[in-house]
Amino acid sequence: MVIDKLPLNNKKLTSAEKMRIWRSIPGNKEKANSRRRERYANDLEYRNKEILKRQNPIYKKKVELARRKKPINFWVRNVRDHHKIKGHIFEVSFDEMVKLCHESKNCKICHIPVSWDYVQSGITARTQQSPTLDRTNNEKVLRKDNIQILCLRCNVTKGDRTMKDFIEYCNNVAERFLIKKEVINK
Ligand SMILES: [Zn+2]
Repeated sequence: MVIDKLPLNNKKLTSAEKMRIWRSIPGNKEKANSRRRERYANDLEYRNKEILKRQNPIYKKKVELARRKKPINFWVRNVRDHHKIKGHIFEVSFDEMVKLCHESKNCKICHIPVSWDYVQSGITARTQQSPTLDRTNNEKVLRKDNIQILCLRCNVTKGDRTMKDFIEYCNNVAERFLIKKEVINK
């Protein structure tokens, strides 16, 4: 194995090469990635540096390739990062969220198909049909039973309302206009 031939204390290796070997040991890559994600969520200075790095066209291309390879995994990772930055707590695992996404072909509210790859005409762009994570009752702790996948349009419309409040709002709108129609028809 490569690791045996090139021990980590070999002085001829550059730090980047040592890092590559270390990451090839099973489990280490995941360990490093999760450490990096934690830091991204909690360390503002590091986050700003990373944001600058991500504006580099080569980096952007790399990210784009990763997105196209596994759009759902990519999406879940991003969503978890953003929610952690906002101070949300995940009691639902990464794998459970990936599973939920695979089961969510349609928006839970309007039922249109959500576009997981969101690539249109070769360009990656968020559309009204892009998937978004909704906290059904707006709780800070995210669990399997209080999240759902909505299309962007429905999530923006629902806003920070709970499902109960949102349904009530829809009812009010429908009632008002149905009543109005009745009046007009008379
Ligand atoms: Zn929808």
